[in-house]
Amino acid sequence: MHLNAFLHKRLLVVVAHQDDESLYFGGLLSSIRGRAEIGLICTTAPMPGRADTDHRVANFHRVGELLQCRSVKCLQLPDCGPRGKAYPSERLATEIAVKLSEIGETYDMIITHNHLGEPNKVYGPFGHEAHKATHVGVVAAIRAPIVVCGLGLNRVSLEIEYDRESKKSLIDCYAPWWTARGYDFCYQPEPYSFHTTGQKLFPGRLPTHARECSA
Ligand SMILES: [Zn+2]
Repeated sequence: MHLNAFLHKRLLVVVAHQDDESLYFGGLLSSIRGRAEIGLICTTAPMPGRADTDHRVANFHRVGELLQCRSVKCLQLPDCGPRGKAYPSERLATEIAVKLSEIGETYDMIITHNHLGEPNKVYGPFGHEAHKATHVGVVAAIRAPIVVCGLGLNRVSLEIEYDRESKKSLIDCYAPWWTARGYDFCYQPEPYSFHTTGQKLFPGRLPTHARECSA
């Protein structure tokens, strides 16, 4: 797998939070900007009570503008939080699948979180439940090749080197409230892996109509 795999394709990037697109995928996305059709979707609404709660959606749209995205959408579903205590993560996954299955567009490739929720130093070895729910929702709803963030995975298909200033310009859309502080992997080469089947977190609990709609 090579960076060329993404060029001149219709790509849909589905992330859990405003900022994940920059933090996990910003190197890739800034590298292919203008050379692929990019759609950007964020599944959850900003958590209430953050200093930047009221700014994050606008900041996400600014990132979309910098990346020359074809479309930018926020589904505004409730965030379950890193451990799934703020909202049931299974319910979130189902709601994501339903919303995504309503998208009447086709894509060549989907880029999203992995089934482990990207374990890292900020929210620990178990990853983030909203990332996992987003992964599950994507897998349930969308019939297209899925490429996931390789953080925490044993097998990585591609590591992307990129221009750090370009990635930083995306992350800076969230400043001064959020600066990726503590995310020590942030400017490392970005790992990617093909999604392989059999990693569903909540087998049998996803809406069957979501699968039918996307067929
Ligand atoms: Zn996130």
